[in-house]
Amino acid sequence: DRRRFEKLSDNAWRVAPFGAMRVPAVIYASEDLLEEMDDKVFDQTTNVAMLPGIVEASYAMPDAHWGYGFPIGGVAAFDPQAGGVVSAGGVGFDISCGVRTHLTSLTREEVLSVQEELADALYALVPVGVGAEGEVVLDRAAMDAMLTGGARWALEQGFGNAKDLLGIEEGGCIEGAEPAAVSERAKERQRREMGTLGSGNHYLEVQEVKHIFDPATAAAYGLERGKCVLTIHCGSRGLGHQIGTEFLREMAVSAQSFGISLPDRELACAPINSELGQRYLGAMRAAINCALANREIVGHIAREVFARFFGKSELPLMFDVSHNTCKLETHRIGGKDRALFVHRKGATRALGPGSASLPEPFRQYGQPVLIGGSMGAGSYVLAGVEQSEDRAFSSACHGAGRRLSRHAATRAWSGRQIVDELRAKGIVVRSPSMRGVAEEAPGAYKDVGAVVDCAEAAGLARKVAYLAPLICIKG
Ligand code: 5GP
Ligand code: MN
Ligand code: MN
Repeated sequence: DRRRFEKLSDNAWRVAPFGAMRVPAVIYASEDLLEEMDDKVFDQTTNVAMLPGIVEASYAMPDAHWGYGFPIGGVAAFDPQAGGVVSAGGVGFDISCGVRTHLTSLTREEVLSVQEELADALYALVPVGVGAEGEVVLDRAAMDAMLTGGARWALEQGFGNAKDLLGIEEGGCIEGAEPAAVSERAKERQRREMGTLGSGNHYLEVQEVKHIFDPATAAAYGLERGKCVLTIHCGSRGLGHQIGTEFLREMAVSAQSFGISLPDRELACAPINSELGQRYLGAMRAAINCALANREIVGHIAREVFARFFGKSELPLMFDVSHNTCKLETHRIGGKDRALFVHRKGATRALGPGSASLPEPFRQYGQPVLIGGSMGAGSYVLAGVEQSEDRAFSSACHGAGRRLSRHAATRAWSGRQIVDELRAKGIVVRSPSMRGVAEEAPGAYKDVGAVVDCAEAAGLARKVAYLAPLICIKG
């Protein structure tokens, strides 16, 4: 019920606790974005506020839309000392789905001179689509090593380069992964899926740095106007999905035994300090490492393709950030440091300047925040800001967010039509699925410019650069 909103500012709305809510719900949106948001975001954000041990508030980012249990674009932190929970639906099915951007020294003209051929080669060499398999096949020992080692494991296998680790969250490998907590079925699904992009919303893009909003930060990040970058969006593939599915089921069945009454079955969760909660965290962290390794391998394949066209080029990694995670972080609440489990589902961590978790070259500028728009609309690079810590545990949006469901999009457009329209605008698309392209039509997403403007005005992050797509390999 929208009448319950209290306006905090032009870009923030608060819902005071009602019913079983333990904390308020806060939605970051302009009036227009709020108007456009599906009502489910309101229901889901307020439902999350009912979960045990939630701290401060349940948040929705400006790109929020309906998700399983938690909204996509939802942020919520839980205190294990106060009965806090961990929820598989609060992380999402594609655990540690995320985005990485590599720098190139190529100009737009250099890319355009081989645009079609480069698209063909990337499409031929990066496995994309449902069921695509990679060249790396993991036996049992290799699987466990990957699940504990993340991008560091990938590096040991000869993918990527050592400098990459500096630009990946957690240095490329999160601690506390428990391969033993991952089912055989999940591992089996991943056996041949390393180094694959996946389907639908996942993409690999060659983008031109078209506009710079903050020259000093852009320079620190290595972004130069007129130069091209390569961006990869993918996650933990079959493994993450299987873990999400299995734990959701187990958490739903166990909720009663923990005495947790759920406003919505989809919010199934377990106390952080329970065997099930700990087992999920161990499995989820293994999936985070899987995603980090996966993106490192896809980045390696893309580098090989670029080397073929342009000779030896390092394609240094600017940054790699996940947007479906639950992480143990220290946050200052009412003047006291507390260790919290922060769920970000379709939300990006956005650490402000000075954070010790940031690599040296960026530390004074804040964390790069990578935001996809759509195949046609382009993308943004933002930087974390100090206020974001007080706004939403240092988090920001992760994309434009859906305006239309996949189904509605396929009724509105055909994939072929979208590919042709984009071609006429100078954007070359390759995809194994024309249905997938229709589902992902630019019109199916919100106006990414409005979303990032709102994120900036709300104090979640600030704009650094706008990236225009030249080539999009779509899952
Ligand atoms: P998600 O992780 O929720 O699937 O997607 C994140 C965001 O990526 C979406 O909200 C959308 O704005 C953006 N996105 C989806 N497809 C594309 C694409 O092909 N290219 C770009 N640049 N962004 C996309
Ligand atoms: Mn994903
Ligand atoms: Mn994603």
